[in-house]
Amino acid sequence: MPRWTLKLLAGILATALLCIAVSSAAVPLYAHKSLAGKVGAYAPVYLFEQSPYDRIIIEVHYEESARPSEAALAHLQSLLYNATGKAVTVREYGDIAPGEVPSSIAGGDVVEFGNSMIKEHAVARTGMIRGDAVMYVFYVNASAPLPKLNMGNRVGGVSYRGDSFVIFKNNLRDEGEEKTVLIHEAGHLLGLEHDDDQGCAMTGSLKRVYRKNYAAPPPDDYCPDHWKLLEEGRHRLPIDELAAALNIPVLR
Ligand SMILES: [Zn+2]
Ligand SMILES: [Zn+2]
Repeated sequence: MPRWTLKLLAGILATALLCIAVSSAAVPLYAHKSLAGKVGAYAPVYLFEQSPYDRIIIEVHYEESARPSEAALAHLQSLLYNATGKAVTVREYGDIAPGEVPSSIAGGDVVEFGNSMIKEHAVARTGMIRGDAVMYVFYVNASAPLPKLNMGNRVGGVSYRGDSFVIFKNNLRDEGEEKTVLIHEAGHLLGLEHDDDQGCAMTGSLKRVYRKNYAAPPPDDYCPDHWKLLEEGRHRLPIDELAAALNIPVLR
């Protein structure tokens, strides 16, 4: 094989970075205990203008070897502020011991693992009817759950429950990808679904082409349509979805 062909093959490496929500029912609520298991369930807690929660605390717990990028966390903080209009505070804790994290977390185990992380490490709690709304982010190094069809892909993050996600730091190539995955998983918690648009951070599969001295930057923002949904969420309490989730008839 000619030398230039080898160089071309080595230089052009397209990989896809997957971002997963373990369950993606968009169920809003204030009675949060019963529905806390559903991704997107807390969207009104975060978004709604009249929500009794006026501050969001992002609690970040990490393994020393999976330390978060300060710039990526600052990006998440300002995006959440812009999306919710609420004060956003970031608190970091380097309190995950390497022994606590399995080297591989299989598909269904991420919920169990994530819940155990909350049980062991959570400091603040979302108030029952007011106070702070807390989002938990866990940074680990582990091989992530991967759908069987996607050989060669990497999973950057998985959201689970209404308020939490795991970041697989070892699967992120650079700070740009970290920013994308952070706001992608937070987007699931805000009730957003995947987008076919590769230019939107809610893209379900981020394909990046690496060439010598060049890598296309990953998206660091949502598309206008997704911003519109977030804006609507600030002014609309989704009564119908709430009633359906709790199996209560809505009287009109
Ligand atoms: Zn996703
Ligand atoms: Zn979008």
